[in-house]
Amino acid sequence: MARYSDEIIEEVRQTNDIVDVISQYVRLKRSGRNYFGLCPFHNEKSPSFSVSPEKQIFHCFGCGVGGNVFTFLTKIEGINFVEAVQQLAERANIQLPTLENTADSAKEALKAKVYKVNEFTANYYHENLYKPESKIAQEYVKKRKLSNETLKSFQIGFSGKFDELYRALKKQGFEDREILESGLVNKNDRGQFIDRYRNRLMFPICDVRGRVIAFGGRVLDDSKPKYINSPENVVYSKGRHLYGLNVAKKYDIKKRLLIVEGYMDVVSLHQRDIHNVVASLGTALTQQQGYLLRNHTEQIILSYDSDEAGQAAKVRAMEILQNMGCDIRVLQMEGAKDPDEFVIKYGNARFQNVVDKAISVIEFKVKILRQSLDLENTNDKIKFLNEIAKLISKIDNSMEREVYIEKIAKEYDVSKEAIYAEVNKLTYRENKDEKILNKSKPVVRHIEKKETENVSEATKRRENTVLAILLLGDMNIYQIIKQNISIEDFKYGIAKQIATKLYEEFENGNSNINSIIDKLTEEQQNYITMLMAEDYGIDDVEKAIDDIIQSYEKERLNQRKFEILELLENPTEENQKKELEKELSDIIIRLAKIR
Ligand SMILES: [Zn+2]
Repeated sequence: MARYSDEIIEEVRQTNDIVDVISQYVRLKRSGRNYFGLCPFHNEKSPSFSVSPEKQIFHCFGCGVGGNVFTFLTKIEGINFVEAVQQLAERANIQLPTLENTADSAKEALKAKVYKVNEFTANYYHENLYKPESKIAQEYVKKRKLSNETLKSFQIGFSGKFDELYRALKKQGFEDREILESGLVNKNDRGQFIDRYRNRLMFPICDVRGRVIAFGGRVLDDSKPKYINSPENVVYSKGRHLYGLNVAKKYDIKKRLLIVEGYMDVVSLHQRDIHNVVASLGTALTQQQGYLLRNHTEQIILSYDSDEAGQAAKVRAMEILQNMGCDIRVLQMEGAKDPDEFVIKYGNARFQNVVDKAISVIEFKVKILRQSLDLENTNDKIKFLNEIAKLISKIDNSMEREVYIEKIAKEYDVSKEAIYAEVNKLTYRENKDEKILNKSKPVVRHIEKKETENVSEATKRRENTVLAILLLGDMNIYQIIKQNISIEDFKYGIAKQIATKLYEEFENGNSNINSIIDKLTEEQQNYITMLMAEDYGIDDVEKAIDDIIQSYEKERLNQRKFEILELLENPTEENQKKELEKELSDIIIRLAKIR
């Protein structure tokens, strides 16, 4: 794969602070020199994911994953290194040179074509909607009271019969390969090309930049399935986009954004001048969509349907968004099953009112809890208090806690003092646990190689310390280490691999650890960031180096001592014997000095 020059990569790295970048995905809190948060790569309840602003690396002590800002992006976005560089360059407004690579450029060319196919198709369907033979679709949009303006801004359209689109695309000069990749046309067993969408109301799905990447098609009668969507292809991957975001972005969405379930909810709300609304395209909100939301707005209002599927989607979305530290509210509608129905029935003003009154996640959870309990019953009342306390004790801000306690006490007619007492019990216990946790060294799992190498813990510890010192990236220290410790001295597999790489890079004059990280395997990156994140207990570097060099020296001397003793046990020439005895006595003197 083609690569950018080291200089460019370095520039991109330096203009993208790792804390800023990771903060878009993980809620980080400062603790000492580092930041901590819940790891996005494994499921955890207490934070073991650390980010070092000084070293510009991250490392999770829970699952062992680690690396630099590029590593993070490749993992979280599921992209490759080059794409990570491109994304971060864009973020920092850095102009990248064009990369020459045949495989990459072939894919890019296909992508460009598929965008073209999609763009043409969106127009084609939209125009089709106004043709006399599309009467059924015209009646439907009329029934839904969709204005021409709305139809236009969402490019809503109507798909035709059998292979109409295919023929139109061919007429434009698109190749079969490009058309098939778009997913808009299928080829059947007999080799015929048939449009995927026939007689459906069409909703083009755009990315944030407004490029058409896929389509959703709704039937206009009772046939099933009600909706079909484009399959994934070179320009479209599921769960990474939000329907309507490209349109909503033209309005003020900084403060607040509503998330609804379906296309029609978005379109219908726009029609009623409610523009800060997007849909999650499918019932379950994904992590990627969570990031998109968080990067565009301060407050997210979950406005899913009030049916069972909608409730489940709500709970799932809450979990995802809460872990990212989003401000989430839950819409409470009565008298309608979804926002579309509500706004049609009661109008814009009442809908805005409901939006303003959207409740917090805690209130929502308390409400759900309340519904399942009978507060006249003593056991249920105790349970209610316990659960409320659990929810409230998770709030960090004490002012916020108070507000909730007041609210809940009033609304559910329970004593404020009773809630306080429960919450205090819980937070006291948690603080104690946390203190114990902080004292113990973080547990590192998954990192140790599966096959047990025959290396003692002391050796591992020593080699890790050498690596940790090398990772300071100091060339002078490297010169000292190199003279005293050779690669052959390393006994522990992964430590030896990393030492080899570090020696090699240092020899070439590259002591930039963060750029060396780019050249390491995943396992090596995880290991190296573990050493960097742990700080490895080196307070006095010079003393640490001395100690290590001496310990190697001692080991070598002892080994030689045993060799000589063995030689002396066998019959030897007088001359040689004398030499060996002299060497032995030297060794013993030197060993005594080391001790
Ligand atoms: Zn983790």
